[in-house]
Amino acid sequence: MYLSVVVPCMNEEEAIPALVDRLREVIEPWEDRAEIILVDDGSTDRTWAAITDAKSREPRIVGLRLSANRGHQIALTAGLEAAKGERIFMLDADLQDPPELLTDMMFMMDRGYDVVYGRRKERQGETIFKRATAHLFYRFLNMLSDVAIPQDTGDFRLVSRRTLDAILDMPEQSRFIRGMFAWAGFRQVGLEYVRAPRTVGETKYPLRKMMRFAVDAITGFSTKPLKLATRMAFVSLFLTIIMAVYVFGSLILFQTVAGWASLLLAVSFFSGAQLLTLGILGEYVGRIYTESKKRPLYYLSEELSDTTPNVIRKSA
Ligand code: UDP
Ligand code: MG
Repeated sequence: MYLSVVVPCMNEEEAIPALVDRLREVIEPWEDRAEIILVDDGSTDRTWAAITDAKSREPRIVGLRLSANRGHQIALTAGLEAAKGERIFMLDADLQDPPELLTDMMFMMDRGYDVVYGRRKERQGETIFKRATAHLFYRFLNMLSDVAIPQDTGDFRLVSRRTLDAILDMPEQSRFIRGMFAWAGFRQVGLEYVRAPRTVGETKYPLRKMMRFAVDAITGFSTKPLKLATRMAFVSLFLTIIMAVYVFGSLILFQTVAGWASLLLAVSFFSGAQLLTLGILGEYVGRIYTESKKRPLYYLSEELSDTTPNVIRKSA
């Protein structure tokens, strides 16, 4: 069985030698039936030189260099598209995710799982801020998202060819890969591991990129924010009714300033009406958005038929 290892690398010149050493040991049993795809995501340091150098020592390396920095998810996509393996293993260059977990992941896949993802039991050497934001992010995302995205998992995972093909079938521009795998379905399982601190270099996810990533994830997997206006419209309607009671009550019982009641009611009624209109627009925009992603409607994981055994069909 052929194995592909895919690693996105941005400014990881110091990480690459150690990474390649660790990976070589891990893929030892595969001999020639393996490849290590290193994607240079428009690095500004000597990452590409490090990849070239590693290639001269390890022929199973495939080096890909993007013309500019496109971000982690796109770099990973480039590597996944190039992968030839029947099983595909993806991890970060900084060795925060232990490559040795591959053995356990393989074991689970042998038992019929299509996706085996790593779940961070503990994150060492990361700031409280990073851990807290990550924690909140995954909970918030799950609240909003229409598919259950596994908590505390990154892109560190082993996937089967058919699941990868499903992902590559999704032509969307904003790619939140771990969510796309969750959406694809098939049998998935998580393995817990301790996330080590970065060995060298520093995080390539500053706050700015993390926010971008969070926005991509939420807008990519939920149209709930668009529906917010509809909900607010109902709240506003409800408040208008209460307001109306109060306004008429005051009008009858006390001497109110002339015009006060009509003004107040008009304001609350029209703001409700505006929210409702926005909500309706939101519903339509949401539909246009979902359509524009042009995702396949479904994938088959199993099929019983006389004519086409073993063919995984999917919708056009
Ligand atoms: N990375 C990338 N392009 C980017 C940012 C990051 O290819 O624009 C790679 C990076 O080299 C690493 C992986 O994505 O292999 C994860 O990045 P990092 O370790 O900095 O993220 P963190 O672990 O701090 O969340
Ligand atoms: Mg990292």
